[in-house]
Amino acid sequence: MRILVTGGAGYIGGHVVLQLQQRGDDVVVVDDLVTGDSARIPDVPVLRADLSEPSAVPMLTDALAGVDAVVHFAARKRVDESVLRPAWYYQQNVGGMANLLLAMEAARVSALVFSSSAAVYGSTEGDSIPESSPTSPISPYGRTKLIGEQMLDEVAASRPLRAASLRYFNVAGAGSPRLGDTAVLNLVPMVFEKLDAGEEPVIFGADYPTPDGTCVRDYIHVADLASAHLAALDAVASGAISGNRPFNIGTGRGSSVREMISAIAAASGLDLVPRVAERRPGDAAIVVADPSRARSELGWEARHDLRDIVESAWASHQLLSGSPRG
Ligand code: UDP
Repeated sequence: MRILVTGGAGYIGGHVVLQLQQRGDDVVVVDDLVTGDSARIPDVPVLRADLSEPSAVPMLTDALAGVDAVVHFAARKRVDESVLRPAWYYQQNVGGMANLLLAMEAARVSALVFSSSAAVYGSTEGDSIPESSPTSPISPYGRTKLIGEQMLDEVAASRPLRAASLRYFNVAGAGSPRLGDTAVLNLVPMVFEKLDAGEEPVIFGADYPTPDGTCVRDYIHVADLASAHLAALDAVASGAISGNRPFNIGTGRGSSVREMISAIAAASGLDLVPRVAERRPGDAAIVVADPSRARSELGWEARHDLRDIVESAWASHQLLSGSPRG
């Protein structure tokens, strides 16, 4: 198939592009290269563009000639920044999605996989979360993802669009060392940053109602997340999905912050003694996916465990930070 990947030079997009190439698909990437890096995907044509610009519609329409399906990653993804600059987040994420959908309509491309987020659920507690759980995002970032899904619902009601919205849980790890996450926005890279500075990792709150008092999340290896996109692409391209269908992409298993820090200590060989700090505003105690829909409808499930995630993240960090240690 010929696949257009927006945001294909990013951390997750780069993994998907690589897996598409490995199975013989023909790939073209559109990326503004603000947080993405074309060095991740050296053999792929990259069209440099900001999807939220009005000029993106004719550019994308041309780029979509002969394309069978689209994977849409291009978006801003910092929750804290979205609180400070909400209007810009709506322009970027919602505006970019609107332009992409207009171009797909003009080019008569009807199959799409959308990069959504577990942030659409908002505050959740307790058991694992099925897709039928109420959606109530707590940040502008989460709302841009939910609005993206709602746009797909509405467009699919008006024309023949087949879409899968993949709600990612906590993504980490690297499929190969050079593809690792270079942003410092999440737990694993934040622990690495502290280690590089010679400081102890920080736990944001150890008094949650969880077995060890620290927050529990569903960590998914980025290579497993990437393979979920390929499974979803096949489902939208073949017509197995009609309309817009949301899928949780997680493992169904929870790990606490303390367990993650212990796994990082084991992978790095470093003796890590975390410091407990105040709770971070807005953190839910437990966020774990019920991934059974993806298993039954896409034939997908995660294969990598926590050790694979943390060891691959550490190997990548050593390569990309240029400071092997441990
Ligand atoms: N966390 C932490 N110390 C850090 C970074 C994150 O204790 O240095 C915790 C955070 O409070 C949350 C979990 O790790 O409970 C995962 O945070 P992350 O920002 O990676 O993802 P989130 O689930 O918030 O989207």
